[in-house]
Amino acid sequence: MMFDRELVLKLAEKYESFYLYDGRIILDSIASLGESFEGVRFLYSAKANPHPSVLRCIFDEGFGLDAASMGEVSMGVQFGLAPENIYYSAPGKSMSDIAAALEKCVIIADSAAELERIQYLASRHDVKAEVGVRINPDFTFDGEGGISCKFGIDEDEALKKLSEWDKLQNLHICGIHVHSRSQELCTQRLCDYYGRMFELAVRCQKALGRELHFVNMGSGIGIPYAETDSAVDLKRLGEHMTALCEKYTDKLPKAKIFIETGRFASGKAGVYVTHVNDVKTSFGKKYAILANTLNGFVRPSIAQMVERAPEAAPCEPLYTGSSAFGFVPLTDETETEVVTVCGNLCTGADVIAQDTELPKLKTGDVFVITNAGSYAAVLTPMQFASLTPPVQIFADPDGRLTVL
Ligand SMILES: *Cc1c(COP(=O)(O)O)cnc(C)c1O
Repeated sequence: MMFDRELVLKLAEKYESFYLYDGRIILDSIASLGESFEGVRFLYSAKANPHPSVLRCIFDEGFGLDAASMGEVSMGVQFGLAPENIYYSAPGKSMSDIAAALEKCVIIADSAAELERIQYLASRHDVKAEVGVRINPDFTFDGEGGISCKFGIDEDEALKKLSEWDKLQNLHICGIHVHSRSQELCTQRLCDYYGRMFELAVRCQKALGRELHFVNMGSGIGIPYAETDSAVDLKRLGEHMTALCEKYTDKLPKAKIFIETGRFASGKAGVYVTHVNDVKTSFGKKYAILANTLNGFVRPSIAQMVERAPEAAPCEPLYTGSSAFGFVPLTDETETEVVTVCGNLCTGADVIAQDTELPKLKTGDVFVITNAGSYAAVLTPMQFASLTPPVQIFADPDGRLTVL
């Protein structure tokens, strides 16, 4: 078991529902990245889990920040990150977002029009803005050929315009960014993707006519959620990356290589814990009613909705797979039974498992949901029905607890 059962039970006496994040697991995950990838720099995607103790733990290990909003840029500044360690990439930044971000981070422009807005605001503030360009490349994780997308600037357009954009007085175009998939578990696909990224960087550098200072490969590295998932072969992926870095040192001599990750750092480090509040039978079917499911950790409920209407499958990170979360009642009960597990909201959508076999549940049981370290608390509509939302507790490697 990846979590401390005794600690969960102790905290469950005090809190009806809570997240528990384990700093040791975060450090282990980060260490495995560091050991596998030489010469690559990592950025933490704070939107996965911005609990301040999680951020502290990850930034202390030398990660920079992949910020998805001006709010996250501000967090990075508060944590003392230098502008060259904060990369602000999001579609649809407002004028006030851009103005606030100047000189605090590298702004990744998401469209041609946005580059002009950055130029306008940088000139009004009389500064030179460090910018990257988010590219929608002519390839995907599945192979050659691009697709229409709301993120970034089509490669074609970028290659035609980069040298022109570079003439904008108050911009310094220093790198490129691509993020085209999350939660990829196929090592070979990741290897191929990185290879294509280096080629793209060479094309962009040529179009720009100057050396790129960074190439941000985005995320992609997945984590095993379902029991049938197998982990990415980090060693092989890292060796492939090292070989690519060597192969391209002459062509991209100044480029720092970045990989972003949210879930790999924090996803396996969290559990969500709640309680069984009632057990009942209707038309012969057994129900367990838990505190705060859809409104405490929304994704298991979304997985159920998608099961019922697969064509409506939303994208990562809302939906990963039908068995992405483990359900672990902390009970000594050895007898099992088939039960439908619901939450205590007044909506039929609040269901996390249909007719599933679990140890016989009883009122008061503590119930754990795994894989709750990223895209969990942050994605959940906690205001619904004015129930008391879960707290978020961080256990640092020395066992000290920080409750949010
Ligand atoms: C969300 C996001 C990530 C993180 O994805 P993970 O699958 O959690 O690693 C990385 N880069 C960008 C641009 C993102 O929006």
